[in-house]
Amino acid sequence: MAAGPKTAARSAAAALPAVKGMNDILPAQVVRKERLPDSGLWLWFEQVVREVLGAYGYQYLLTPVVEPTALFVRGLGEVTDIVEKEMYSWRDAMNGDELTLRPEATAGIVRAMIEHNALYNGPLRLWTLGAMFRHERPQKGRYRQFHQLDVEALGLPGPDVDAEIILLARRLWQGLGLVEGRHVRLELNSLGQSHERAAHRAALVAHFEAHADRLDADARRRLHSNPLRILDSKNAAMQPVIDAAPKLMDFLGRESLAHFDAVRAALDAVRLEYRVNPRLVRGMDYYNLTVFEWVTDQLGSQGTVCGGGRYDGLFEQLGGKPTPAIGFGLGIERLLLLMQELKLPLPDAAPMAYAVIPDAAALPRALVLLEALRSQRVSVQMHAAGPEGQGSMKAQFRRADASGARFALVFGADELAHGMVAIKPLRDADGGAQRLRPLADPAAWAHELRTA
Ligand code: ATP
Ligand code: MG
Repeated sequence: MAAGPKTAARSAAAALPAVKGMNDILPAQVVRKERLPDSGLWLWFEQVVREVLGAYGYQYLLTPVVEPTALFVRGLGEVTDIVEKEMYSWRDAMNGDELTLRPEATAGIVRAMIEHNALYNGPLRLWTLGAMFRHERPQKGRYRQFHQLDVEALGLPGPDVDAEIILLARRLWQGLGLVEGRHVRLELNSLGQSHERAAHRAALVAHFEAHADRLDADARRRLHSNPLRILDSKNAAMQPVIDAAPKLMDFLGRESLAHFDAVRAALDAVRLEYRVNPRLVRGMDYYNLTVFEWVTDQLGSQGTVCGGGRYDGLFEQLGGKPTPAIGFGLGIERLLLLMQELKLPLPDAAPMAYAVIPDAAALPRALVLLEALRSQRVSVQMHAAGPEGQGSMKAQFRRADASGARFALVFGADELAHGMVAIKPLRDADGGAQRLRPLADPAAWAHELRTA
């Protein structure tokens, strides 16, 4: 289009930025202000996830991003941080329905399972991956739209599946090049059953009441609504009184302790190291028995990359049949940030080659060869014409460098006249020598590019 008054008027309009705390995930070569994972890393993560989840026989599902508000209020608990202050909720203008952008995945998955009577034929192992929304103060590793991998094992009561789901996370770390114990480590606790938590809670309230003068406003507010969350407080001044509080572990009965011991024994058997953290309570009300977190020391106070636990009561709470279940949510941005921070060797998302086409007359023969190379599993990005045509060789090689490709395929008139294409290494590490290869027989030399 010719530049005219219309284009000028358009460029004068103010640009519209994204909503605060909601990010674009972009290709690596695009310059960004903030430190966020790039889309190549993202795709690689998804690929590792698919392999690992497949190895354990978990199946994929998708549920809506919008759910009835009541699902989260009932499922997560009214006095949790999420429900109290982090949900994006609104009334549908068309029909008045109370709706919420999902802040987590488990409640929606359980809703779907109940709705479709999905466990009729037995237990299910499931996973999903998608956007979650929480109205939090945006900072590194904490966003208003973020993404989670969610893994759930439904209809299985035993400590064996608790261990399985924790082990599955370890295999993910291995697939991604993270070292368990060094980069991420496991924290484990048991929340027992509700009657045990009730007895503990009574003792806890009595303890904190006796030290009410040392509680901050948040803790005082929670004292009678959700005293367990006080244990989760990050206020350093309150640590002594928190340390002295009665421990839930001392209130667990024989069965709960046996379950916990069995999980520990299973983890010991596969040499998975963990720390029992009696303070680990997790943010949602629905948890019981085993809870766990995979944490890192590299991301400041956003140190939890993965958190989960058993939630045997949630199906009933949401109107379903009693169904034991366990699952975890993994924060994808946080995990990928960690990997960038650690400077782990990451896979190369760039094409293997870039096709330099000096003259449009070469295009038909170039296209034929590029298609043949792609059939030989060589990824090639083609130089496409701009408003002024193909552009100079210099400009084309600049694009070739920017693409991240290791080789340029040059379709010059001389080469083509001899039935050849020139392969020119773009990185010093590949050696500078240019060579000619026959257009007629790409299958014979494609491996040179593929395996370079
Ligand atoms: P935190 O204590 O950091 O607020 P949480 O207990 O609220 O975490 P969960 O509800 O357990 O987090 O969610 C599971 C995972 O999702 C977290 O461990 C984290 O990796 C990720 N996560 C949670 N909230 C956010 C957010 N606002 N931005 C990015 N990732 C998040
Ligand atoms: Mg939170």
